[in-house]
Amino acid sequence: MARVVVSGGAGFLGSHLCDRLLQRGDEVVCLDNLITGSTDNVEHLFGNQGFRFVETDVSDYVWVPGPVDAVMHLASPASPIDFERIPIKILKVSSLGTHRLLGLARQKEARFFLASTSEVYGDPLVHPQPETYWGNVNPIGPRGVYDEAKRFAESMTMAYHRQHGMDVRIVRIFNTYGPRMRPDDGRVVSNFITQALRNDPITLFGDGSQTRSFCYVDDQVSGHLALLDSDHTGPINIGNENEFTIRELAELVIKLTNSSSELTFAPLPTDDPTRRRPDLTEATTKLGWAPVVELEEGIRHTADYFARILGV
Ligand code: NAD
Ligand code: UDP
Repeated sequence: MARVVVSGGAGFLGSHLCDRLLQRGDEVVCLDNLITGSTDNVEHLFGNQGFRFVETDVSDYVWVPGPVDAVMHLASPASPIDFERIPIKILKVSSLGTHRLLGLARQKEARFFLASTSEVYGDPLVHPQPETYWGNVNPIGPRGVYDEAKRFAESMTMAYHRQHGMDVRIVRIFNTYGPRMRPDDGRVVSNFITQALRNDPITLFGDGSQTRSFCYVDDQVSGHLALLDSDHTGPINIGNENEFTIRELAELVIKLTNSSSELTFAPLPTDDPTRRRPDLTEATTKLGWAPVVELEEGIRHTADYFARILGV
């Protein structure tokens, strides 16, 4: 049993992580300022003796009384629509926030876990992407605020590891979806499912030929726990190797929701990556982890969730 601090614990991924940590008997202190998360995601945990929720901005100040065994830093807005809406907050949470949480982990002699991203590879020139690839990122473009902040967070984490001998873990998360994404989150899976359920047009950016590889949330969180518990610093890619065009995703969502939605086309956002697929060799060989949920099954679960919360 461990006492784990989870920043961003009221968000989509963080709330599933809190569930899984509590299920295995760990105690959880969840730090979140609710900028893109919601107490709805964790309200089922409020009666749990092992769970504590603290509303706080980790870019400003972080302190947690009592012993801490692990600090897991998931706080950061993660949707491209937020990159334009709140760019400075995004830069701050992965720079100042990472610094403060590393400081907390160091003071508590705790293991530090960073949620990084496949966006560190930018618009990749190597495909699929292994962890050894350094990436192709535009630092001054609209996505740069997220990509460069996460790259800085990785650098800072490795600096604490090297200078202070701290025990750290870095996961590079590839596109993950599932229940508790916000319906208006702006990411492709939530957009397409909510559009399909309302029989609204499905918005394809560009011609829909760009690719992504989608990982179901339960698989993603299993990967995080496997890395946390392992002896490997990382970075390690966690995602799903099955790659789809965005048009294929739209067609699958329409089919699975029995929707009458039509496809509509909108301009491709600046610096939108052309393709993305994780090389999972490190995760499978070092962690013995592999994703098990097929896209079709995961989309069904996610569509059921959205149908319930939207009342459609
Ligand atoms: P999310 O927006 O649902 O969760 C992020 C959480 O962090 C929210 O609850 C938000 O309120 C909180 N937060 C943001 N800034 C904060 C601050 N300054 N102080 C305290 N809390 C703050 O997004 P998510 O998809 O669950 O992403 C979680 C983490 O995983 C992020 O670090 C993100 O970069 C990373 N990630 C996610 C994906 C994905 O596909 N979901 C892919 C790559 C990386
Ligand atoms: N996308 C789309 N329609 C939407 C939302 C997104 O075609 O309504 C595209 C987007 O341009 C990108 C892909 O879907 O090529 C994945 O977008 P998302 O925002 O989910 O994640 P990211 O670009 O960060 O991988």
